[in-house]
Amino acid sequence: MVASSPADAMLHAPVFVHLRTYGCQMNVLDSEILRGLLAARGFVITADEQAADAVLFNTCSVRDMSERKVLGKLGMLTQARTRRPELVLGVLGCMAELNGDELLRRAPQLDFVCGTNQRQHVPDLLYQALCRRVAVAPVTRHNAAQLERLRLALNGHAPPEPQARIVIGLDAHSTVDERIAVRLQPWRAYVEIMRGCSNFCSYCVVPYARGPEVSRAADDIVAEVEQLVACGCRDVTLLGQNVNSYGKDHGEGSDAFPALLRRLDAIADLCWLRFVTSNPQDISDAMIGALAACKKVCPQIHFPLQSGSDRVLQRMHRRYRCADYLAHVARLRAAVPAMMFSSDFIVGFPGETDADFQATVVAMEQVRFASAFIFKYSPRPRTAAARDFPDDVPTAVKEARHQQLLALQNAHTLAHHQQQVGTRQLVLVDGPSKTNPAMLQGRSAQYFNIVFPGTAQLAGSFAEVCITHATPLTLYGEQLP
Ligand code: SF4
Repeated sequence: MVASSPADAMLHAPVFVHLRTYGCQMNVLDSEILRGLLAARGFVITADEQAADAVLFNTCSVRDMSERKVLGKLGMLTQARTRRPELVLGVLGCMAELNGDELLRRAPQLDFVCGTNQRQHVPDLLYQALCRRVAVAPVTRHNAAQLERLRLALNGHAPPEPQARIVIGLDAHSTVDERIAVRLQPWRAYVEIMRGCSNFCSYCVVPYARGPEVSRAADDIVAEVEQLVACGCRDVTLLGQNVNSYGKDHGEGSDAFPALLRRLDAIADLCWLRFVTSNPQDISDAMIGALAACKKVCPQIHFPLQSGSDRVLQRMHRRYRCADYLAHVARLRAAVPAMMFSSDFIVGFPGETDADFQATVVAMEQVRFASAFIFKYSPRPRTAAARDFPDDVPTAVKEARHQQLLALQNAHTLAHHQQQVGTRQLVLVDGPSKTNPAMLQGRSAQYFNIVFPGTAQLAGSFAEVCITHATPLTLYGEQLP
């Protein structure tokens, strides 16, 4: 029900909030935490934007396209505001962090902005906005000089200075119980093990939007996973921009993340453990040893190569060569033969020649990724690449390279899928298939998307499925008795 006055609504009737999420798994988790925070304060989360008293955007600045999507949607809702002046609009996340003031200037109908590291303030800001006290969050502005010093130090390969340990993720306003109450799939969960990034890849805004790396205490992470598992969670994905450097911000070595994996692997009733993202320069023997030893860690790794050209990797400030990357893949495959690799690629990075691009094609042929996210380069404000390199690869060339890599990846994905035909796969069932609700959809340990006939009551449980045929997107099968 939409009340006539938002302030009255807080007092007398439910206030419906619609939260839209853009971007990566980090934002998906932030939105889950936000929904928990809002629900705990009495707001009602709704999937129906039209019925909402407040529409919030959890935004992403990693690509120009995501920002344009948010701005377009915001423009449409701003028109809706003329029909429904009580509608509250808020922008959260990376766009708010990086450009909050500019957003408020360009969209005066916006009620508030709130940056990535201030999510605990969102319920208060929303309440204030509902009361028509337009509020601006104390957006965290990371000290620009401090960030620049860190970036320069890292580009000179100096380690960052150890920081005081900061416990993040759960706070007094955000408990696992509150999050569980709003989660649609209690059998799967993301768990944040660190925030921010100190790598400063030259094309990336994340270190500016989320600040430098800050790791959570291992005891807190283990406690959170134990609590999730006690509530029925079976498949946990650990999130960090670079999980391999977990713990380094407070002086721990490269065995901190492997040690965390081993502790989590010992949790009874947790079935599958995943992690993302794993950057090539920080992979260690201890990490590979843990992947081989931990039986619950799924044979699947997101391992972004970005480019097969050493010249481009250097301009991207990626601290590995393509040969190093291929050697890591070989070691990982030797340790875990079933390992499936996925990657990110950027085509049309400034100065990328045909030969550079061809090196990427060759690397893709060598690894044969199970899946890949392939993006056309777009300069992001504040980044070193935007500042130092002209965006000089013509749009048509970027587009042609993009299409070529997409076609190659589709062929590799289909080949991986076809290899699964005739195999038995254990599937954690998510519920009816989005494209065919008469079928069930779920994920295997290697994160294959598997569709098979079955009843909706299987959602949240494991089923054994024999794969009968494959397409580039999906494996199809029959449930085994
Ligand atoms: S590792 Fe590089 S690409 Fe990934 S978040 Fe950090 S700066 Fe961005």
